[in-house]
Amino acid sequence: MTETRPVYLPPDPITPEREITHAHFRPGEHVVILKGAAEGQLWGDAMKVVTPSWHTPTDEDGWRLLDPDGGDRSYITAHPRYMVHLSTRCPECLVHQQALREYLVPRVGTAEEPVDCRWYSLTALNQLVHVADSGR
Ligand SMILES: [Zn+2]
Repeated sequence: MTETRPVYLPPDPITPEREITHAHFRPGEHVVILKGAAEGQLWGDAMKVVTPSWHTPTDEDGWRLLDPDGGDRSYITAHPRYMVHLSTRCPECLVHQQALREYLVPRVGTAEEPVDCRWYSLTALNQLVHVADSGR
């Protein structure tokens, strides 16, 4: 009989502190929403930036994103600080990823199976909201 080890899900103190402007992103770009880690690397959902869209949970400018694996919730709205450029040529996003990786990987380990830290949820209006923004 195997016992399931309780998974410790660390909070995310990095993303809420991130300083990134709305104009940092452009329609057509590919981004990732980082949700956890797998195999010692950050893990998340890749999406495409579609168009500016109001992010109601924060009452700030956000972006409409296309999630190719989102099924009937393919279009969601995210705050810029949730988004990270998939291109490796963006220094600002690289700095953020590095900080998040250095924080997260020692806490969740390097297992092959992705660990979703459940920082994000979707509202009924398909607004992606980080747990740090959900109480607003
Ligand atoms: Zn970037």
